[in-house]
Amino acid sequence: MTTKRDYYEILGVGRNADENEIKASYRKLALKYHPDRNPGDKKAEDSFKEAAEAYEVLRDPEKRGIYDQYGHEGLQGTGFSGFRGFDDIFSSFGDIFEELFGFGGRRRSRSAARRGADLRYDLTISFMDAAFGVETEIEVAKLESCPSCQGTGCESGTTPENCRHCGGSGRISRSQGFFSIQTTCPYCQGEGRIISYPCPECRGTGQVEQKKEVSVKIPAGVDTGSRLRLTNEGESGTRGGPPGDLYIFINVEPHEFFKRNNHDVICQIPISFVQAAMGDEIPVPTLNGEKKLRIRKGTQPGEVFRFRGEGIPSLRGYGRGDQIMEVVVKTPTHLTKKQEALLKEFANLESAKLSSRIKKMFSN
Ligand SMILES: [Zn+2]
Ligand SMILES: [Zn+2]
Repeated sequence: MTTKRDYYEILGVGRNADENEIKASYRKLALKYHPDRNPGDKKAEDSFKEAAEAYEVLRDPEKRGIYDQYGHEGLQGTGFSGFRGFDDIFSSFGDIFEELFGFGGRRRSRSAARRGADLRYDLTISFMDAAFGVETEIEVAKLESCPSCQGTGCESGTTPENCRHCGGSGRISRSQGFFSIQTTCPYCQGEGRIISYPCPECRGTGQVEQKKEVSVKIPAGVDTGSRLRLTNEGESGTRGGPPGDLYIFINVEPHEFFKRNNHDVICQIPISFVQAAMGDEIPVPTLNGEKKLRIRKGTQPGEVFRFRGEGIPSLRGYGRGDQIMEVVVKTPTHLTKKQEALLKEFANLESAKLSSRIKKMFSN
């Protein structure tokens, strides 16, 4: 893992490169190392995958930000794991390969496996679950291989027929000057075959929507906007293609007492003016239960205290934020006769002190 090359270096761009520069550079590399141009060349294959991974990160402002700050390790913390294979790359960057080659980027023969679509699931979790991590089950509706036709799309007892227009290849070639241009066969949509008797269950698509329970392990330290990737939990692929991935977008509910600033937990501590003036020791809730906070004598409103290491764990797995407490001094609204009398006496002493100080100032 630590031998991974720097993504900017791989793409040959500066750290301030903009979106267009990054895309242009990746296009160049994708063309150079494309598996169709380098059949059987393991080195080219590795370079192709490496470039795709670098592009996947640097084109996404969120991932790029994490990478800039924490490097490869930071991305691992978000569940990012690069690509498994070519199909993965082609389906992710279809637009680029379409621009380069005029179609999906690879020969799509009738046997071509296609990767399933990625899915998104928005998950709302409590403040505490975000702080400590949680394991939960979610129900995801996704396209799965049709059980009644085993994904073939054909009514039972029938088989698909070869497309007569393309001879089953799914592609039609046409010469234009020096080039022979290949396009997807419009009759079979590149499938190479035509289903005359479609399966009634899935209407010939080979897939049906099914609800599936997926268990999700949320790491401690996630925040609103965090994204988890569950490999292979997306929609199933067709013709034996790999399934897509499931992306969980996290939303964290607000807490009644705590707020959050990155890994710090912020809260307000109400104290009386007597406690502020004379100091006190008061119990304060933290993520890990109650803790004693010592209020200094003469504490001013808005003064800030800090419990080190009592905040949210870092997603990277080490270190924790702090708990930051702002003191709010409460002025009493109901006073008993006795309290009022005592405060009057206090006020008299204060004004006597003050007037003697002012006299001193002017006599100098
Ligand atoms: Zn079916
Ligand atoms: Zn055809």
